[in-house]
Amino acid sequence: MNLSHSLATVARHVPNQRAITSDDGVLTYAQFELQVAHIAGALRTRHGLAPGARVAIVMDNCGAFLPALFGIWRAGLTAVPVNSKLHAKEVAWIIGNADARLVLASKAHADALTALRVALPEIVATGTANWLSLLAAEPITTIPTDPDAEAWLFYTSGTTGRPKGAVLTHRNLLFACHAYYADVDFVDERDCYVSAAPLSHGAGLYALPHILRGSHQIVLPGFDTGEVLDIFARYRRVSMFAAPTMVTRLVNDGRAADMDTSGLKTMIYGGAPMYVADLKKAIGVFGPKFFQLYGQGEAPMTISGLTKRMHADVDHASYEERLGSAGIARTGCAMRVVDGDGRDVGVGAIGEIITKSCCVMRGYWNNDEANANALRDGWLWTGDLGRVDACGFMTLKDRSKDMIISGGSNIYPREIEEVLLTHPGVLECAVVSRPHADWGEEVIAFVVARADAGGVDGVSLDRLCLENIARFKRPKGYRVVANLPKSNYGKILKTELRQILMREKPEQTED
Ligand code: AMP
Repeated sequence: MNLSHSLATVARHVPNQRAITSDDGVLTYAQFELQVAHIAGALRTRHGLAPGARVAIVMDNCGAFLPALFGIWRAGLTAVPVNSKLHAKEVAWIIGNADARLVLASKAHADALTALRVALPEIVATGTANWLSLLAAEPITTIPTDPDAEAWLFYTSGTTGRPKGAVLTHRNLLFACHAYYADVDFVDERDCYVSAAPLSHGAGLYALPHILRGSHQIVLPGFDTGEVLDIFARYRRVSMFAAPTMVTRLVNDGRAADMDTSGLKTMIYGGAPMYVADLKKAIGVFGPKFFQLYGQGEAPMTISGLTKRMHADVDHASYEERLGSAGIARTGCAMRVVDGDGRDVGVGAIGEIITKSCCVMRGYWNNDEANANALRDGWLWTGDLGRVDACGFMTLKDRSKDMIISGGSNIYPREIEEVLLTHPGVLECAVVSRPHADWGEEVIAFVVARADAGGVDGVSLDRLCLENIARFKRPKGYRVVANLPKSNYGKILKTELRQILMREKPEQTED
């Protein structure tokens, strides 16, 4: 099984259906399929690439991305989609780490890579004569592929250290698609999927179940709230993957409340915490059209999920608590909460989330040390802490490295962040630790104030915490900042915040 088989099937079924709309124009499924066959032919014959060779994709979201991805698969090769927002040096590192034999790149990225003057494989840039000659090569049909062959080397976002390449097989990706149909939505050629986040990451993974069913892909070069809201007004049955920060930005766009957003079918969000206060506002604006996913590149976004029904079940006694959870294990996925020795901790107790399913990566690319840590007896150790209630709902606490231990007590930043976000003056916040001579660590909160509110101050935030959480958990200091450092995927970089605290002069440390 090779994912590009299903593209061929769907292109025969709905050849004239719009497949990809982007700034580069519109491709029907027949045209998409033909481009894929030409690109695959070029990769095999012109570039002489043999099955298993890696081909990097360094493209902004554009009309060429998906044909390149499926062209690589059709040729029996492995795709290495790289986040194009990374610095050229970081991109070059990933290309080298993956030992890619060819790079398919947007023109600007091809130029930036060439300017580095480091050893790189051949680069074919979109829009050039070389690209056009790819599209003119002799087309080929799908090369028979073992379902356990490498399909996608998914480089983790690397919020700490160098990114690691999770090896995802065709079977892993197909399983993720089937779990989408089982838990999120059944889709077909009447559906529409918007990619407003990088296709090299979550947005690209969620494009797959839609392509395999012949849905219309709208590929946006970036995330512009007005453009996305317009799409909800113009198209029907629209689904979209959004990081929680993107959902919040859509909700905070003043136009959202008044516009006709009935075209939105499903907003899939996840990849970072979504706070209950923000989620409730979002449901108020768009309705219960949300599906929360919990996953990792290592188990492509498929470990647990909070379904649309769960978002709509307002009369349930545990509704609020469930909104704050990451839902139940996805269909076909096992999920457990264990202690350091792999023993189940029991209902309600906090431990590390581990998962086993056909979705779990084969391993990290050339990284035995990381593999020994992450994969044990087929279970993926996620590095996330959480607990599961009697009904199977899993509430994520934090990444184990973000947990704070103060005076011997475990403090989970997310709990404090949830409280701070209920303050009308707080737009965003992040809670981190700072070393403390007596307590081991102490809690410090970084806060971004809402522009349209009267501002925030440490006194009112402290009062709010005292009213809602145990005294020992409340922050010992507040830093009101203009914005929070974020990765290219919109994740808050807590490591950078901890570094900011380490650089502060001693007199700044007390508030
Ligand atoms: P990545 O592999 O870069 O997508 O990052 C995966 C990590 O994002 C997970 O290990 C979690 O720490 C975090 N994450 C994913 N989904 C959620 C979610 N629904 N809520 C909170 N954090 C999440």
